Amino acid sequence: MAACIFCKIIKGDIPSFKLFESDKVFAFLDIQPLSKGHALVIPKHHGEKLVDIPDDQLAEILPVVKKLVKATGAENYNVLQNNGRIAHQEVDHVHFHMIPKPDQEQGLTVGWPAQ
Ligand code: 5GP
Repeated sequence: MAACIFCKIIKGDIPSFKLFESDKVFAFLDIQPLSKGHALVIPKHHGEKLVDIPDDQLAEILPVVKKLVKATGAENYNVLQNNGRIAHQEVDHVHFHMIPKPDQEQGLTVGWPAQ
C-alpha cells in the first residue's frame, strides 16, 4: 500500500536497519526501541490487523521471531502484536514486536507499554 510506512521500509524507500528478509517476511530494528535489540517482524503482504494476513505469511513470522531471540541471546523477552488504536497499534501494517528484557544488572528494564 503506497502510503504505508512499513510497505515503504520493505521496498527500501524508507531506510531501516534490516535484520532478516525472505519472500514473505521482513524484520528490522524499531526506530524507538524499548530496549536494545527491539525488533519488528512484519509480513510483506500489507494488512492492517492479524486477521487480514494470509495464513502462509503468518506461519513464517514466528520462526523469524525465534531466530531473532536466539540472535540477541535474550533469556527474557516480550513478543507482542497490537491490533487497533485501543490496543496501542500505531502503524497499520501488522507487526510483531520482539523486545529483549535485560535484567537489572545489565542496567535496563523497560515496561510495556512505555510509561
Ligand atoms: P505499534 O504501537 O503500532 O504496535 O508499534 C509501532 C512501532 O513501529 C513503534 O514501536 C515505532 O517505534 C515503530 N516505528 C514507527 N515508525 C517507524 C519507522 O519509520 N521505522 C522503524 N524502524 N520503526 C518505526
